[in-house]
Amino acid sequence: MRKPVIAGNWKMYKTIAEAMDFIEKIVPVAAAARHCEVVVAPPFTALAAAALAAKGSKVAISAQDLYWDKEGAHTGDVSPTMIVDAGCTHAIIGHSERRHDHGETDEQVNRKLKAALAAGLTPIMCVGETLAQRESGGTGQVLKTQFEGGLAGLTPSDFSRIIIAYEPVWAIGTGRTATPEMAAESHHVLRDLARAKFGDKVADGVRILYGGSVKPDNIGGLMAQVGIDGALVGGASLKVDSFTSLINYPGA
Ligand code: PEP
Repeated sequence: MRKPVIAGNWKMYKTIAEAMDFIEKIVPVAAAARHCEVVVAPPFTALAAAALAAKGSKVAISAQDLYWDKEGAHTGDVSPTMIVDAGCTHAIIGHSERRHDHGETDEQVNRKLKAALAAGLTPIMCVGETLAQRESGGTGQVLKTQFEGGLAGLTPSDFSRIIIAYEPVWAIGTGRTATPEMAAESHHVLRDLARAKFGDKVADGVRILYGGSVKPDNIGGLMAQVGIDGALVGGASLKVDSFTSLINYPGA
């Protein structure tokens, strides 16, 4: 039985005070929501304060990225050790905005994943195709390349600690959502890739989240699909009311 995960990616939004206020309001909502795990990914500056506000609660705090070295001359980067020190349990890795804005490659995603695992974090690894790739029929191949490149060298036991997020790039922040059927098809492709690489048991256990303009009014249809195990949400995770509705999605 895969426990759904509802994760909010705040991107470059919220001050420390705003983050703490939000977390304090969402703690009782998460406590009452026995059906799912709740994860919030504030910006780096608010991680420690958010983790303090979430301490002892069911709200897990995630970084939005990390660097693979423990320490060193890497101006502007933040290490897995520092992220754990700030109170995080999760880290988003390979988000399409990192891939596109910062040229992040599958090899870098792989290094980040390994470093996150070594630090005891739960990585949320993002994969997904662009509109051009989908329209040219390349979705399956893109997912395969990102999946295999990002997860190269990992054992089944490593993989069992990872959460995957399928995020079609054309649906992120655009208001265009994949239909539940389209999303489910890609989730199926990803679970088959996991099956081939890591075996049935681990593939059946991995949580695969959908991300891309998930809102309170479309999450029910997505979550009703077999194989969609939660959501990674940007815009609609920024308001307490809307994130509360996502946590308590229809059918939960
Ligand atoms: C995201 O940031 O991962 C995301 C899916 O954003 P949005 O929900 O705004 O499309």
